[in-house]
Amino acid sequence: MTRQIIVGNWKMNGTSRDSQALVEALLAGLPATVPDIVTCPPFTQLALLADKLKGSPIALGAQDCHKDVSGAHTGDISPAMLTDLGVSYVILGHSERRQEHGELDETVREKAVAATKAGLTPIVCIGETEDQRESGEHFDTLGWQIKGSLPDNFSGILAYEPIWAIGTGRAATEDEIAETMKFLREELVRQFGEAGKTVRILYGGSVNAKNAASILSIADVAGALVGGASLNAEAFLSIIGAAS
Ligand code: 13P
Repeated sequence: MTRQIIVGNWKMNGTSRDSQALVEALLAGLPATVPDIVTCPPFTQLALLADKLKGSPIALGAQDCHKDVSGAHTGDISPAMLTDLGVSYVILGHSERRQEHGELDETVREKAVAATKAGLTPIVCIGETEDQRESGEHFDTLGWQIKGSLPDNFSGILAYEPIWAIGTGRAATEDEIAETMKFLREELVRQFGEAGKTVRILYGGSVNAKNAASILSIADVAGALVGGASLNAEAFLSIIGAAS
């Protein structure tokens, strides 16, 4: 079995002092055997953390990137600027970006292509709203998001984050996750054939120190994308410890 991957998405949190303290606590508390670990601070902390994490088992990820290599895109960051800093992963299409920045499946797909070309591993997020789940449209929604957001020959990571579970303390149940994982795998294989069998799928949405072990033991869950709990060293280390 390939190693699981635990990704911390710090979102818009972290001054230099916070970031430094958090990473030092993580490095000091890492167990001897670790899963793949990625920490995704805000852009402003990437250079600092690149230096701190050099040679450690914690890889660096960004929370977004542009689809172009350079040019007139005020305020944006290109994939090449990320690899230049030693970043190796990038979260794309998070529901907060889709909602707050109007990112469409098409945008996410273009970014995933650009990120891959630059040598980054994209972590593409999909997930349904509460209304879509309650009205039974969640699988349709997820199927369309896969079709629209993942490029052909996708070699990155897919993260399933039900929007209603993000930051609410109400993670999806084990049954809901298991059923959705099964659907996502079938859909990946239907859309991508053989290649769809190897895409790693993460679960995200209110993963914490308490529920991590049971979530990470669900069939086909390749790891977790963690928001709030990744800002607390003790909680994030417990989640890392629960992974295989
Ligand atoms: P929480 O873990 O805070 O629910 O956030 C999940 C998330 O959005 C990670 O990308």
